[in-house]
Amino acid sequence: MTADSAVSAVLTGLEDSRPWQEDLYRDVHQHPELSHQETRTAGLAADRLRSAGFEVHERVGGTGVVGVLRNGDGATVLLRADMDALPVREQTGLPYASEVTATDADGNEVPVMHACGHDMHVACLAGAAQLLADGKEHWKGTLIAVFQPAEETADGARGMVDGGLGDLVPTPQAALGQHVMPLPAGQVCTRSGPALSAADSMRITLHGRGAHGSMPQAAVDPVVLAAMIVVRLQTIISREVVPGETAVLTVGSIQAGTKSNVIPDQAVLQLNVRTFTDTTRSTILDGIKRIVRAECQASSCPKEPEFELFDQFPLTDNDGATTDQAASAFTDFFGDRAGPVGQQSASEDFSDIPDALHAPYSFWFIGGIDKDQYDAAEKAGRVAQDIPVNHSATFAPVIQPTLDTGTQALVVGALAWLAA
Ligand code: ZN
Ligand code: ZN
Repeated sequence: MTADSAVSAVLTGLEDSRPWQEDLYRDVHQHPELSHQETRTAGLAADRLRSAGFEVHERVGGTGVVGVLRNGDGATVLLRADMDALPVREQTGLPYASEVTATDADGNEVPVMHACGHDMHVACLAGAAQLLADGKEHWKGTLIAVFQPAEETADGARGMVDGGLGDLVPTPQAALGQHVMPLPAGQVCTRSGPALSAADSMRITLHGRGAHGSMPQAAVDPVVLAAMIVVRLQTIISREVVPGETAVLTVGSIQAGTKSNVIPDQAVLQLNVRTFTDTTRSTILDGIKRIVRAECQASSCPKEPEFELFDQFPLTDNDGATTDQAASAFTDFFGDRAGPVGQQSASEDFSDIPDALHAPYSFWFIGGIDKDQYDAAEKAGRVAQDIPVNHSATFAPVIQPTLDTGTQALVVGALAWLAA
């Protein structure tokens, strides 16, 4: 059977799966769960996989769920969806909007919303898994479905790897994932090479010497030191990164002192770095430490500065051959609704899974914005102002054609290997 005829045979089941997938989407949307707390969502995913005939592993690295469907000799394909929501108060006005609150990792009561569209990823993968299981006479190989927790905290994929994912599944020939984005619904966009930036956050503690504000000679002023560092750090981007390379360094938080006439004894900076190559990433991270240490020495700090890295997302660097294979299957199926897209400055922890399994991967984007609304905004030159983006309180994909498209993309992508 050719891949094309396998795709149409498997996707005949979409008429039947669409109603429950839409119900599942609304249900998960209305019951969002914070990172590492996705027990209800994981339970729904596991139930679906079990009834579709998958071998199911639950609580992999916390709340992760892994389904394996062995269907004879052939390639192994891994499909991944993330499950977690964000501490955002939903303002979409949708009838299925979330009113959920939960206790976050710091013990605070926070509103919770699927503001990044991971509920859509869950509903798409649940549907694709069911369709491929129901249509398994049309393909051969092994299908792995991964429902991953805690993407938003950058540690869910790593957690599943540390929790033994590699022992539960064979090595995939292709690992595939997708994300809903503020693009017209119905579109599927691919990109070879670096597609999503690596992200690193760093907390820097500077140690000065406190004194009376009138007696600076007795102090090592960490406020002046911090100010010098903030300015000097921007020279890494302008003077050390190769021109033409995209890189961002933002100092998002600077904290020191309590009173106008007291020189404090420390300052804390928090900064965020986005890069698209490993070389640029180490140039910047090494440069930060070098500059901070040198400025501390210039100020005669009594103690070395401290550096703490957190919220680190790997680079999503799509394999060329894998992306070409998926992209050509998408073009065959979606026609002009499939196409290439530029680098996105967002970040993902998806690639931690294929990197640990030594599998090539491709991660693509699906649109989630009503096409008429998007076209009108584009015509008026107001896409940035009028189209809600991920993580905003008004971001919720239109259910259709987003859900059908995301489900079809996973099926078409998987069959590009399994029906070959
Ligand atoms: Zn997100
Ligand atoms: Zn996301």
